[in-house]
Amino acid sequence: MSDIIQLLPDSIANQIAAGEVIQRPASAVKELMENAVDAGATHIQLIIKDAGKTWIQVVDNGCGMSETDARMSFERHATSKIRTADDLFAIRTMGFRGEALASVAAVAQVELKTRQIENETGTCISIHGSEVISQEPVQMQAGTSITIKNLFYNVPARRNFLKSNTVEMRHVVDEFQRVALAYPHLAFQLHHNGVEVFHLKEGSLRQRIVALLGNQYNERLVPVEENTSVLKIYGFIGKPEAARKLRGDQFIFVNNRFIKSPYLHHGISSAYENLIPADTHPLYVLFMDIDPARIDVNVHPTKQEIKFEDERIVYTFVSTAAKHALGKYSVTPTLDFDRETSFDRYGPVPQFAQVETEAQAAVNNANYQPSWTPDFATMPQDHTRVHQGVSQNVSSNVSPSATYTIPSRGLDELPEPAMNAEAEQSDKNASPVFQLHNRYVVSQIKSGFILVDQQAAHERILYDKYLSNLNGQAGHAQQQLFPQTIHVATADAEVMMELLPEMRMLGFDLHPFGGTAFVLHGAPSDVQQGDEVDAIEKMLDNYKQSQQVLKLPTTEALARSMAKVNAIKVGKALTEKECRSLLDQLFASESPFYTADGRHTFITYNLRELEKQFGRK
Ligand code: ADP
Ligand code: MG
Repeated sequence: MSDIIQLLPDSIANQIAAGEVIQRPASAVKELMENAVDAGATHIQLIIKDAGKTWIQVVDNGCGMSETDARMSFERHATSKIRTADDLFAIRTMGFRGEALASVAAVAQVELKTRQIENETGTCISIHGSEVISQEPVQMQAGTSITIKNLFYNVPARRNFLKSNTVEMRHVVDEFQRVALAYPHLAFQLHHNGVEVFHLKEGSLRQRIVALLGNQYNERLVPVEENTSVLKIYGFIGKPEAARKLRGDQFIFVNNRFIKSPYLHHGISSAYENLIPADTHPLYVLFMDIDPARIDVNVHPTKQEIKFEDERIVYTFVSTAAKHALGKYSVTPTLDFDRETSFDRYGPVPQFAQVETEAQAAVNNANYQPSWTPDFATMPQDHTRVHQGVSQNVSSNVSPSATYTIPSRGLDELPEPAMNAEAEQSDKNASPVFQLHNRYVVSQIKSGFILVDQQAAHERILYDKYLSNLNGQAGHAQQQLFPQTIHVATADAEVMMELLPEMRMLGFDLHPFGGTAFVLHGAPSDVQQGDEVDAIEKMLDNYKQSQQVLKLPTTEALARSMAKVNAIKVGKALTEKECRSLLDQLFASESPFYTADGRHTFITYNLRELEKQFGRK
């Protein structure tokens, strides 16, 4: 028998590896910006087109690369940042796996221009899908410019998986903000489609926070600074009045690397107990410096999760540091005109010097029961959150279809039109109804025939239905799901919180889960099974459009966007029964002629007009 095992060609291995590192334009942005920081740049420019789908460019004035290094940098595991295994434990730079450029080059058309200051000319390399197309000398300023064109051009499945430009751009901005917050002493610019979105001069952390989050925060920031032998905490937390229902202004950095940690979020929030309403989130931008040997940053490929050696101590530290800062702020008269009353609310000011011993004692004390002890190593990336002090683990990896049968969506399950005997009779020899090009439904009427746009018609039907749901007039079918956690963009979380009551009326059994996280227990039956999260994201996008651009009232904007997202689309084949059901429901509407935003749902062809056109009188 001949051997059958083969090594994967490098290009394919790179594509597979790329999937781990580069999930969307924002992941590429993160990697390129971190490389620029590591290269010692003081000015980093990010240029984006089409939310990064066609163009991501990072220009830096860092150390640049030699001709050979430029070529080498695209090899997998090529890194200038680790020489020995020991380095792994002392790692302070952003990148270190040497995977980013190789991954990007596998799934895009990349152009790298780079010049070291001591060289006269730079070098320009073009790589398409891991294949070097050209390398030639180029005149340029010292530094590096990398352009990633047409991300996933050779991986259609991934390209199709990308969300709308609004959603993708929000992820890009999130990554940009995280890097910009971590390096306030560097200058950053962000351009999107030729428009300058951020122009950040080098400055203090406070200046950077205000430049990114808005001037109104300047007055509402309380400095945090604590030093212990184990770790150093510094940064800013918001005064209680800066807390918001919606979330997004929460940043934790460990050794200058942004991390997501529901556990530490809980720790910081606990400092605000009784100071802010339970459904609001404090603002914070906190940095912790820890001996790298005490944390494992390599837990997740995108490196947003880390594992602390003593996570309970870290929890107690951040929580106490936040309390301490709040206490100090309350006794500073210049900052707080309402001192007398507010002071009482804060209780005794903890002395941070004692914290270390207290924390250690707490950990050693057998009675000490943290409200929640996560196992970072086994936590699913997106699906764990502290919720009212109760431990919850929800995994959306489990397919709902594994246990539940969920009615398939579409016209089948829409109520059949009620038919009396006569109608049933007439249905048997009913006039023909059929679909053309998977997009139009043709139906004969007395005076001629109508050509119905299936998508527009269904939009009208759903719009009516959602509007009546929102007016509390109708119940709604709902499919049960395994709880799924949704993470929305920072800015969207606010919108989502505002919309929760309405979303529930529409049939989304949705609950806030802290920060930008929400848990979904059920969805309306018109939402395609498995697409619930996507539908919510699309709907939010669409909703913001309708509301912000068209200034529509909430219910109107919501009904319209829900209808748009869930309507059957052009290209869907319909059975005759579905075609009839569509027509029946359309003509049951009070205004069957137009969609909510005024497009025709159908066009009438009149026999007499047609005859004239055919030259008959
Ligand atoms: P890593 O950052 O993990 O080392 P990357 O694939 O991101 O891996 O980069 C590979 C190497 O390319 C880096 O180690 C660095 O030497 C070089 N490099 C990447 N980007 C830049 C840049 N903007 N300026 C200078 N050198 C760079
Ligand atoms: Mg890197």
